[in-house]
Amino acid sequence: MARGVYLLHFNPRYQHAGHYMGWAENIARRVREHQRGQARTKLTDAAARVGVKFRLARTWPGKDRHFERALKNSNSTLARLCPICKSGGVTKPHHFRRKKKPGLLARLRRAFS
Ligand SMILES: [Zn+2]
Repeated sequence: MARGVYLLHFNPRYQHAGHYMGWAENIARRVREHQRGQARTKLTDAAARVGVKFRLARTWPGKDRHFERALKNSNSTLARLCPICKSGGVTKPHHFRRKKKPGLLARLRRAFS
């Protein structure tokens, strides 16, 4: 695989981290290094050591470190760039959850009280 910027999706999350973004000459080789815990980055090496799996969520082929930095500095969090998270691979924030409908008994009780 070509050089460029890539995004790793952690499964499961490691502490507060769910993603890692980096740049590599050879993305495929770099992802294998991450998975073996030999990437020499604090975060992914520690996560790999406790069994976290990394999925290559997205690549931006041909992009350079300036692009990586721009994305990291932008307001969008890595999760919003991640197609795995967007497709529902992550728990939705609490306020998105639908309220459970009250059961029949509860509704009857309310109607006749
Ligand atoms: Zn993700």
